[in-house]
This record gives sequence, C-alpha cells and structure tokens, in this order.
Amino acid sequence: MQQEIDWSNMTAAEVGALADEETIVILPVASTEQHGPHLPTGCDAILTAEIARRVALKVREQRAVLVAPTVWVGLARHHVAFGGTFSISFATYHALLRDVVRSIRDAGFSRILIVNGHGGNIAALSVLTDELAHELGVRLAATTYPMLASQAGDIEPILEDQAQLQHACEAETSMMLAIRPELVREDKLAEAHQPGYVKGDSSPLSDPITVWTSFKDFAPSGVRGDARRATAEKGEKLFEVTARHIADKLIAGEPWSR
Ligand SMILES: [Zn+2]
Repeated sequence: MQQEIDWSNMTAAEVGALADEETIVILPVASTEQHGPHLPTGCDAILTAEIARRVALKVREQRAVLVAPTVWVGLARHHVAFGGTFSISFATYHALLRDVVRSIRDAGFSRILIVNGHGGNIAALSVLTDELAHELGVRLAATTYPMLASQAGDIEPILEDQAQLQHACEAETSMMLAIRPELVREDKLAEAHQPGYVKGDSSPLSDPITVWTSFKDFAPSGVRGDARRATAEKGEKLFEVTARHIADKLIAGEPWSR
C-alpha cells in the first residue's frame, strides 16, 4: 500500500512515480473568510484539507491517490463586509483553477476530484468542471464535501440544532473542536448563533431567485445556524461520514464511470 498521500510532503520524483492515468488526485478548494466571532478565518481551508486527507486514507488501500495543496482563496464577496476576508473574482478563479489543474495534468495525472469546502465556490465550480475537463482533456469532477452524506440523510442525525451544514455553525464548529480545538474561541460561543434561525432553514444563497446578498444582512453575527451546542464528538462523526461517502464513490470508480 502506498504510504504517503500528501503531494506537498513528497519529492518530485515520488510524485512522478505515482503519475498514472488511474491515480486519483484530490484537489481541496476552500476560502479564507470571516467565520463568526469564534472561529478562525482559515476554517474552510483547514476543514477541507482534513476531509481530503481522510478520503485519501480510506481510498489508498485500493487505489493510488494523492492530495494536492489546498486552494485557500475563493469567491467570498458576501463575507467581505465583516473584514478578515479574501475574495477573488470569477475570472481570476477560472484562471487560477485552470492553471492548477493544468499543473496536475502536466505532472502526469488525469483523474482529478475537486473537494470543495465553501458554498460561494459551488456555482463557479459547476461551470469550471465542464469547461476545464474539455479544455484540458482531464477527467475532472467536483463535489462540495457534505453533499453526498447529506443526500444520504447521514448529516442530520448528528446535529441537534441544524439539519445541514451552514456557516461557522454547529457543524463547522464541531469539526474544528475535533481537530483544532485551540483555534475555537470558546468564550465567544454564546454569541455564535443567528437570531431567529430555525432548524431546517436553508441558506438564502440557495434561493430560487439569485440576487446579490451580503451575509451580514441575514446573519449579522457572521454565523448561519447555531454553534452553541457544538462538540468535538459531533465533529468527528461529521468528518467520518462525509469522508466515507466521498471515498466510497472513488473506490467504486465513480464519478468517472458514467
Ligand atoms: Zn466555513
């Protein structure tokens, strides 16, 4: 079994030894942005890298797999009003991902799964996955990490105050408590909720009408959902269930079998 899965920890020759059209490269993409009063701005990048790592650890027993460095910046205009946020335009994101994916291809790989951890990137990735797959001649797929587990009904039973992942919420805070508890400002947890939030509410960002909305207008605390009852135990379960669903697809040869 292949031991190392982190591209950045390997020499160029070691990466090259894995270059094959069957090898899977996981590319984590995230954002660096405000995450409420209690979580660090690097939350999405930290969580997405951890999901990617766990997926690869599950997959490597059956398939060669590598985790590329995390793309830490994304489309986060809706968080800018809070400060502490990096955001790039769609044009820049397109150019950035095109060159990152091209680099992976040029290193000898053609199966690439983008694992996304930021809601603001979803619409862009839908377009880019199609466009870059054709332009660069790679088998490119993308998933936003909780989606498979959520669709299977495996997220809701873990959470008490939310039905799904939101933002700086019960789920993200729990996952941070599971792996980086020293980065969670526990003295701010009492403020880490959205007044009026009702379990099952979906994000305004997924409304059927698309309109520019600042996150600050509907979630002035910077939190969508309710993080007050977050626990490390819930976080560990969320990591495992989300990573397992993605790993199962990869082990089965999907999404490239269709
Ligand atoms: Zn987040």
